[in-house]
Amino acid sequence: MSVIGIDFGNESCYVAAAKAGGIETLANDYSLRATPSCVAFDGKKRIIGVAAKNQQVTNMKNTVSGFKRLLGRKFNDPHVQRELTSIPYKVEQRPDGGIGVRVNYLDQDQLFSPEQLTAMLFTKLKETSISALQAQVNDCVIACPIYYTNAERKALLDAASIAGLNVLRLMNETTATALSYGFYKQDLPEDKPRNVVFVDCGHSALQVSVCAFTKGKLKMLASTWEQIGGRDFDYVLADHFALEFQEKYKLNAKTNARAYLRLVTEIEKMKKQMSANSTKLPLNIECFMNDVDVHSSMQRSTMEELCAHLFERVDVTLRRCLQESKLSPDEIHSVEIVGGSSRIPSIKALIEQTFGKPVCTTLNQDESVSRGAALQCAIMSPAVRVREFGVTDIQNYAVKVIWEPEGSLTGGEIEVFPAFHAAPFSRMLTLNRKEPFNMTIQYAQPVPYPDSIIGKWLIKDVKPNEKGELQEVKVKVRINHHGIVLISSASLVDKKEVDDSQAADEQQAGDQAQPPTSATGEPMDLSHEEYYENDDGSRDSPTASSPGGQGWAQRVKGWFSSGNDKKKKSNKLIELSMDVKTHGYSQADLTNYIQQETRMIANDAKETERVDARNALEEFVYDMRNKLQGGPLERYVAESDREAICKQLNDLENWLYEDGEVCDRETYQAKLNNLHSQTDPIKERCQNYDNAPHAFDELRKTIDYARAAVNEFRSGSTKYDHLTETEFINISEAADKAEKWLQNALSKFTTTPRTSDSPVKVSEIRHESHSLSACLNSVVNRPKPKPPTPTTKTTEQSHHQNGESNQDKKDDSKTNSSIPEDSTMDVE
Ligand code: ATP
Ligand code: MG
Repeated sequence: MSVIGIDFGNESCYVAAAKAGGIETLANDYSLRATPSCVAFDGKKRIIGVAAKNQQVTNMKNTVSGFKRLLGRKFNDPHVQRELTSIPYKVEQRPDGGIGVRVNYLDQDQLFSPEQLTAMLFTKLKETSISALQAQVNDCVIACPIYYTNAERKALLDAASIAGLNVLRLMNETTATALSYGFYKQDLPEDKPRNVVFVDCGHSALQVSVCAFTKGKLKMLASTWEQIGGRDFDYVLADHFALEFQEKYKLNAKTNARAYLRLVTEIEKMKKQMSANSTKLPLNIECFMNDVDVHSSMQRSTMEELCAHLFERVDVTLRRCLQESKLSPDEIHSVEIVGGSSRIPSIKALIEQTFGKPVCTTLNQDESVSRGAALQCAIMSPAVRVREFGVTDIQNYAVKVIWEPEGSLTGGEIEVFPAFHAAPFSRMLTLNRKEPFNMTIQYAQPVPYPDSIIGKWLIKDVKPNEKGELQEVKVKVRINHHGIVLISSASLVDKKEVDDSQAADEQQAGDQAQPPTSATGEPMDLSHEEYYENDDGSRDSPTASSPGGQGWAQRVKGWFSSGNDKKKKSNKLIELSMDVKTHGYSQADLTNYIQQETRMIANDAKETERVDARNALEEFVYDMRNKLQGGPLERYVAESDREAICKQLNDLENWLYEDGEVCDRETYQAKLNNLHSQTDPIKERCQNYDNAPHAFDELRKTIDYARAAVNEFRSGSTKYDHLTETEFINISEAADKAEKWLQNALSKFTTTPRTSDSPVKVSEIRHESHSLSACLNSVVNRPKPKPPTPTTKTTEQSHHQNGESNQDKKDDSKTNSSIPEDSTMDVE
C-alpha cells in the first residue's frame, strides 16, 4: 500500500508518493510530472490529462478545464457567472441549482457536475500512481486552497470519494508547502520561532501565508489570498492583442472561441519567455482566422504597464498578510516563493519590497505542494514509517454558532472560532434545554462564497429531567483536519442522585457544578469549554486562554466528581442524535455518482482494450507483410501461399481504415487469430531451419567429447583407472549410434526445400545430444573411491601419497574430457 499527496491545481495537478527512499513526484503516461486539470469526452471514451489538453483545440466543446473554481458552487453564484465568461464549454443550471457541464459523451448529451469532473481527474491521478508505484493506492492527502470555504472542501471530499480515494486530510496548499520546507530543515530553532512567508502564485489565485517553525513543528499564523493568477495576465494580454488584430487585420478573435483559445495559448508561451527576457518578443499565429496569419510583438515593460492593476492587487494582498501576521519585516526570516506565476519578475520585486528581503527558491516551485501533501500522508498513514512533524494549521475565517430561542429561553450566538484559529480544534458548548433545538454554524465575516451558512443541526431527543426542568446539553463544535467546521457530537448530561456504591458501579462521578446561568440571569445559558483534539480523538491540555484557566483533566473532574459521603450526583452523558443539513452530496447521490464513475472506468478500460486490439492487428499486418516480402520469412513459404497471405494482409489494411475503423475487440481478435493460424507455422519452420545448424554443431561436439574420453581410457590414463572397460564400450557404441543418426539427419536436412517443414526438428537433435552426454557423464563424472585410511602412516608414505594426489588433480584439470551437465543444454 502506497501513500500519495495530490496538488489539485487549476491548470495542472502533481502527485507525489512517499517511498522508502523519500518523496518522489510521479510521472504520468506521457512521462510528464504535470497532469493538466483537463477532462475531455468523445463518442467512445473519456480523455483525461495530457491527452485531453492536446486535443482541446479540435474538441473544444467537449473539453472541460478550470473546474477547480466551480467546485461546490451553485450556477447563480456571481463567482460562477464570472468564471463562465472565459469558459468555452457549455455550462447550465441543474434542477437543484447546481452546476452542470453539458458534453457529448458516448454519442449522447450528458451532464456532469464539477465534483464528477474532479473525480475523473482523480481517477486518472490514481491510475498514474498505481502504475508508477506498481502498488495499490487508496490513502492520500489532497491539497486545497486556503480560501476554500466549507462547501468547496466538502465538494472536494465528495470528488475524492467518487474516485475511491481515502482522504486522510485536506491540507491547505501553503501549509503543504510549509511542511515540505520545514520537514527537511535541520537547523530549526528550539524556542524562538523562525517565521517564514510562503507565496504561492499559481494559475487562478495568489496565496500568502506566514508560518512559524520550531524544531519538529510548524504553526501557521496568518494567510491572505486574492483571485489573481497567471490566467489573469493571459486574459489582459489577450484583450490587448485581440484589439490590435481587430484594427490591423479586421479580425475579431472574441467571436471565435477556437481562435481565442489559440491566442491565449500563444500568449501564455510568450508570457513565460518574458519572465526570462526583457527584449521584444514576437507573437506569430498562422491561419489565425479566415486563413489569415497574424504577427505582433511585445516586451516585458509593456506587459507590466498593461497589468499594473493586477500587480497593485498582488501588492495589497502581500501587505495584508504581513499586517495580519502582526509581525514586522525584521521578524520574517525569509520568503519562499512557489507556483508558476511567482516567476514573473514584477511579482518577485513586489514580494521583495513588501518583506524587505530577496525571495528564496529553496523549494521546487511546481512540486512543493504535492510533496508536502505526500509527507503529511506519510506522517498520518500507518503504512509508512516516517519521522513526526507537528502541523498546526489555521481556519481562515471567523465562525459563529447560533442557537434558536425555545419557549421562554432566548436564542443567541457566539463566535466559536475567530479568523486564523488553530485547526484541528474542538470546542464544547453547554446549553440548558428541554426540547430538541436547532443550531446553525455560520461564517462570522464575509467569505468568498455567496452563502455564509455552513450548516444547520437539529439536536434531537432532548427532554426535561424527571422534575420537568432544563437539562444540560453539551455540543462539540469542531474544525476537523480537513478544515471543515461541524458539530461533531451532542450529548445530554443526565444528572441523578445515587448512593455511593451505585455511583461507583456506574463509574460515573457526580457533578458538583451548578447549571450555568447567563449574565442576564436567564434560566438558559451557554458555557463553553475548549480543548485541542488530535486527529486520533485524544485530547491535549487546553491552551492558556481556556476559560477558567484549569487544565482539561481538572475541569473534567470538576464536572463529574465528588459529593458528600452518602449521596453522590451521578452524571451520565447520553449521546444525542442529530439531523444535519450542510454542504455536500447525500449518501444516496454519492452512491449513485460512485456507480456512474465505476461504469465509466469500466467503459474506458473496455475502450482501451478495443483500441489495443485494433492496434495489435494493424501492427501485425505491417510487420508480417514486411517479413514475407523481402524479409526473413520470404524463403520459407511457397510463392502462391505467400501471395495469398499478402493479399489478405492488404485487404485487412484497407478494412482497418474503412469498415473496420470502429469494431469491437472480439472482431479484431478473431482476425488476428486467423492470421496467426496461417503464419505461425511459417515462423516455426523458419525458426527450425535457422536453429538446426547450431544444434547439429552441438551434437557433433558431444560425439567428439565422448570419443576423446574413450581414447583416453584406452591409452591407460590413471584418471579413469576406477572405471571399467564395459562402461567405455557402451560410450563408444552410443557415440557411433549418434554419429549415424547425425549423418542421416544432415543428409535429409540439406536436401529438403525450405518451403517445406524440416524433416528434422531442433528438439530431436537436442534430444540426441542430451542422451549421449548423459551416457558419458554418468560414467566419467563418477568420483574415485577414497583410498583406505592406513592405521599408521610413515612421513614418507604420506608425502608420496600427497604428491601423487596433487599431481592427479593437476592432470584432471588439464585432461578432463567430461562435459558439465549444462554445457550441452545451452545450445541455442
Ligand atoms: P492554482 O494554484 O491557481 O490552482 P496551478 O497550481 O495549476 O493553479 P501553477 O502550476 O502553480 O498553477 O502555475 C501555472 C501558472 O503559472 C500558469 O498561468 C502559467 O502560465 C504560469 N507560469 C508558469 N511558468 C511561468 C513563467 N516562467 N513565467 C510566468 N508565468 C509562468
Ligand atoms: Mg497551485
